[in-house]
Amino acid sequence: MGNIFSKTALLAMGRSCLDALFPPGCPRCGEEVDRVGALCPDCWPSLDFISDPLCHICGIPFEYSQGEAALCGACIAAPPPYAGLRSALHYNEASRAMVLSFKHGDRSDRAPTFAAWMKRAGRDLLEQSEMVAPVPLHPSRLIKRRYNQSALLASGIAKGTGLDLAQDLLVRTRATASQGNYSAKGRVRNVRGAFAVNTRWQPHIEGKTVLLVDDVLTTGATVEACTRSLLSQGVTAVNVLTLCRVVQPASLNI
Ligand SMILES: [Zn+2]
Ligand SMILES: [Zn+2]
Repeated sequence: MGNIFSKTALLAMGRSCLDALFPPGCPRCGEEVDRVGALCPDCWPSLDFISDPLCHICGIPFEYSQGEAALCGACIAAPPPYAGLRSALHYNEASRAMVLSFKHGDRSDRAPTFAAWMKRAGRDLLEQSEMVAPVPLHPSRLIKRRYNQSALLASGIAKGTGLDLAQDLLVRTRATASQGNYSAKGRVRNVRGAFAVNTRWQPHIEGKTVLLVDDVLTTGATVEACTRSLLSQGVTAVNVLTLCRVVQPASLNI
């Protein structure tokens, strides 16, 4: 008997049956939408996607184009340890609520949508990277939350790219207080030496470029500490991809 339906058609049928049972929800408010990953008309304008022109290294948006590979003032004055950083969204009231429900509200089902947005924002970094790894949670926090939201994003990003997913590439050497309790300088101190490369991965990272994944970038202290730890163990370069980032208008080089 010949195949009446192609595999793709069967998959599509399966998906539409699933959609009928569990209609896809807007990743921000949960309102029913017509396809997975689509935002509802109310939420679409409240989310602020980051787009070009950007600083070539730290990815901070410029108000107008400064030419290809232009750098912001901060990166010219003191280049960060990572090679490139990109984020999908501005961290604002709407994305904050979305991230909080992802982190604490059992909305791990939204990871594939967020990962797709991040892949779009970080397509250049993906091309340059060989391994994908998340910023780790300390085990005590992992028990409380049940999952590491950055690990879910990392796995969604690695999917279909051929990049090696190294979920436990980095480990926390100590529990740190929440970064929210500190000033910019305090945050740097709080995470200094808090990350190490997992000994299991040490023989496999020499000369590699790693794409580090996190949910929110605030001052960058956490990803910088992770980057330094990777570079100290033989990694050639680190790129960083986050779902959201805080953008301080004062730090824009305009
Ligand atoms: Zn919505
Ligand atoms: Zn910059």
